[in-house]
Amino acid sequence: ETVFVSGCNGFVATRITVDLLKAGYKVIGSVRSQDEIDQFIPHFKPTDALTLVIVEDISVLGSFDEVFKQYGKEIKYVLHTASPFIIDTTEYVKDLLIPAVNGTQAILEAIKKYAADSVERVVITSSFAAQAGPKQWYDNSLTITEESWNPSTWDDCQVDGMTAYCASKVFAEKEAWKFLKDNESQVKFKITTINPGFVYGPQTFFDPKKKIMNTSSQIINHIVHSKKETDINEIFGPFVDVRDISKGHILAFQKKELIGKRLSMVSGMFSSQGVLDIVNEDFPQLKGKIPVGKPGTDATLIAKHCTVINDETKKLLGFEFIDLKQCIDDTVKQILEYETI
Ligand code: NDP
Repeated sequence: ETVFVSGCNGFVATRITVDLLKAGYKVIGSVRSQDEIDQFIPHFKPTDALTLVIVEDISVLGSFDEVFKQYGKEIKYVLHTASPFIIDTTEYVKDLLIPAVNGTQAILEAIKKYAADSVERVVITSSFAAQAGPKQWYDNSLTITEESWNPSTWDDCQVDGMTAYCASKVFAEKEAWKFLKDNESQVKFKITTINPGFVYGPQTFFDPKKKIMNTSSQIINHIVHSKKETDINEIFGPFVDVRDISKGHILAFQKKELIGKRLSMVSGMFSSQGVLDIVNEDFPQLKGKIPVGKPGTDATLIAKHCTVINDETKKLLGFEFIDLKQCIDDTVKQILEYETI
């Protein structure tokens, strides 16, 4: 059985790609350039059932047409993970909103045109950001569930990178559900969305030359490389381990009960202080080199955040999520393995 993974060289998608191959699926993955193919391919064995294709820019409507024209008939499952997760931009529309929304539309249109009879399930990598935006995150009177939606509008989200990124995820997810509703009689596929909190955990292929990691992992990388006197930004919110996110994507197309669901994949809450406490405790070689912050204030920070309830998701998925200590320990251990402190 063949699975198409868009943006398969991303932090989350690399893990999914490897897990799919391990589970015996054939994978067709898209990356943006030949250069990306050349960097990605050496990580795999010649026997791996992986085909890489180029989709240069998902902002362009029609960007997935060629690939689906060529391979559509053999693709049974589609995992759409490609979407920009960057926050250091002020070109909100061009860099965030358009690629997220057009990318979703383009891949679903391509399925409709060339693979309406073959693709059975589509999994959209959405986000907790589609359930709640920054304004809701810091309202501790709110409870966010699988039914919650980030209320951002196209105009009011263009204030900072994080707000616009979160909005890009809600617009993209809404686009997917709307597309299915409008085209139900013309396509075979059903949709499931995965809505993760901040994703941490080890990189599948660690690149020691890369000093800046993908946006979520960079939060931990920054803490590990901070100086004693660095003031660590107060960050707090829901988190989940990348290994669980990969499992979730695969179960999402395997299990019938997950059709039509939004899976709120959150293991628990974290704060940058909580991460500092774990790192200082578990990595003695960093003691005295990185800040200690204000130990013991983790719970106070988390209490400022909205509450996340995802019991339905946990029941549907049926596996225990990796906890913060293991997630952070494994992330930091990998970073430190490649350097002499
Ligand atoms: P990465 O930045 O590692 O991966 C993003 C992927 O999307 C890359 O393959 C990237 O290609 C591709 N991409 C981005 N913009 C374009 C574009 N315009 N045209 C073609 N491809 C593009 O991030 P993650 O792995 O963290 O994110 C994967 C998905 O998970 C995203 O949808 C993200 O919103 C979602 N998510 C992530 C969370 C996290 O904390 N990491 C939390 C919740 C959701 P390239 O590398 O060449 O730029």
